[in-house]
Amino acid sequence: MQKSLIPDINPDPTDSEEIRRRGLIRILALGLLVLSLLALMTIIVFLFIYPEQWHDKEILLAIVSSIAATITSVVIYQINKYSSKTASLLLLLLFVTASIFSDTPEQLADGRSLFIFTIPIAISSLLLFPLASFIFAALSSIIIVFLAHSVPTTPNPVAIVGFFMLAIVSWLSASSLDRALRELRVINANLDQVVIERTQALAESLSRERIEAGRNQAILNCIADGVVVFDRKWNAILANPALKGMLDLPIELIVNKNFRDLIEHPRLSPRSRGLLYAMMEHDTQPPSFRVEWGRKTLSISAAQVYDHSKDGDTNLGTVTVFRDFTREAEVERLKSTFVAIVSHELRTPLNAILGYAEMFKESVYGPMNQKQVNMAERIMKNTQRLLGLINDLLDQAQMEAGKLTIQMAPMKPAELLENVHSVLDQSVQEKGLRLTSEIEDNLPEVINGDSARLQQILVNLVNNGVKFTDHGVLHVRLFCPYSGRWGIEVSDTGRGIPESELPYIFDTFRQVDGAATRVHGGFGLGLSIVKQLVNLMNGEVKVKSKVDRGSTFTVTLPLTVPEADMEKRRML
Ligand code: ADP
Repeated sequence: MQKSLIPDINPDPTDSEEIRRRGLIRILALGLLVLSLLALMTIIVFLFIYPEQWHDKEILLAIVSSIAATITSVVIYQINKYSSKTASLLLLLLFVTASIFSDTPEQLADGRSLFIFTIPIAISSLLLFPLASFIFAALSSIIIVFLAHSVPTTPNPVAIVGFFMLAIVSWLSASSLDRALRELRVINANLDQVVIERTQALAESLSRERIEAGRNQAILNCIADGVVVFDRKWNAILANPALKGMLDLPIELIVNKNFRDLIEHPRLSPRSRGLLYAMMEHDTQPPSFRVEWGRKTLSISAAQVYDHSKDGDTNLGTVTVFRDFTREAEVERLKSTFVAIVSHELRTPLNAILGYAEMFKESVYGPMNQKQVNMAERIMKNTQRLLGLINDLLDQAQMEAGKLTIQMAPMKPAELLENVHSVLDQSVQEKGLRLTSEIEDNLPEVINGDSARLQQILVNLVNNGVKFTDHGVLHVRLFCPYSGRWGIEVSDTGRGIPESELPYIFDTFRQVDGAATRVHGGFGLGLSIVKQLVNLMNGEVKVKSKVDRGSTFTVTLPLTVPEADMEKRRML
């Protein structure tokens, strides 16, 4: 609509008033041209039918008027290209002049054609300026008076008053239109300003983002570790060159591919495949773990990325960092093999020492006095302690090498308690402590579990309780927290563990106070073994502790009951 009003040549394209007027004149000039051509055609057709009318004065007048109107409309159309105001004035004068010759003076002064004069009055305020309608009302009134005088007759006073009334109406509407247009122009200008400002701000933030992205890419390219960024659907959106070298794969096989494609790659070992699928499916922050990629060992850690800016946290995807761990893994493997061999080699002579010391104590090689018996007992105790440490080292080495497996079989939880009493009651009594235990009624009598490893967990925890408690009670409780889980809880009233140490207490070779623990023996492997065993059993271990008040270790494990016992329980 707006476009059709735009003139071909525009001296001042910013003057929208000029544009509006020019468009209006163009429409009127074209309208006039069409009308005059139609009139000319009608007359020609009429003369074809009635050729005798050729000499009729009125017909001649009509032909001349139509031709004049045609030429004038073309002239106005052309002038309009250069000055819309001149074209407007010409058009209005054409209307007035045409009006004078459009009918007989009687009809124009006081008859059917009086209304013709209203046209220039109505449109003049739109084409020139609001007050122009009064000028044309006055001009039309003068013409009517002259025409009436020429006939002669009296001019129509009602028509003259009507002209001025019409002039008032068109003046009012033109000025309010003018005001509305001016306001609209101000609004448009403000709107344009806002659009310009927004566009500038957007352009600035885009270029800032581009700079930031470039910087991030440069940092990413320099990192020696392989980095892949996945979106929420695990499609890789970014990967750095280090990853390409690490996986020995072209970057096109990584970026824009789903993580599943990488997981299904034949170079990945089946066990690693399972770990990576588990990482994808875990909602929680996945831990770091190792995978086998061909001959390489890669350490992978993943972190989910959240957008904290919006309401609530929106998960944006996952950043995964790959580290080549091949050398470290090899060193670890060698270390574990070495420890396993050494421990194994040490155990044989130690068992022999233990056996001989026992035989001495039992006077197998002749009578012994009390002092010799005491010495033999001390040899036995220290050898047992040494054997305990070596067993721990061996377990740790086996677990690191992934060789330790859990053997599930039906077992009675009550037997765990009986065994722990038989193993530790003596040392408990020697320290003047008390060891109590209980089994909650809802725990099944027989469950599936690795009784030897469970025993090891329980003895480790209770033994620590004995070591780090000087007064009070040690309590062991076997319980069912909720269906499908069972638990072992060991609590003591000992010295407790400082809060700052709690996060590290299960780390290998970690001791709260090296000097103090040395008095009690041990070298920080007990809890680490407990945690690894519990993990192998798909359970978890937690600790609550207060300095000088005591500690509570809680192990929770999946609960399954042997099929035969299930039947029995169902029947009860
Ligand atoms: P250790 O062979 O030294 O006992 P552990 O791994 O069993 O090694 O325990 C690690 C450290 O945790 C201990 O050295 C001790 O400082 C602390 N600890 C473990 N159990 C207890 C407990 N029941 N009370 C207080 N401290 C404990």
